[in-house]
Amino acid sequence: MRVVVDYRRCIGAGSCTRAAPAVFQLASDGTLRLLQEEPGESHRDQVEEAAEYCPTGAITVEG
Ligand code: SF4
Repeated sequence: MRVVVDYRRCIGAGSCTRAAPAVFQLASDGTLRLLQEEPGESHRDQVEEAAEYCPTGAITVEG
């Protein structure tokens, strides 16, 4: 599984960091950091939830 974030659409809402804190982190300046571009399958449910709850649809899960 590969996680792709469209940073032009990200508004720093932080929903993804609550759903999958091992993969998404908000820096102190409010910008999103992708901690793992290819997280293991054990993170799939959390990552898919993050993509679902992102208010701007900035997260795509491939594979
Ligand atoms: S939920 Fe979406 S808009 Fe919010 S920080 Fe994550 S990627 Fe950005």
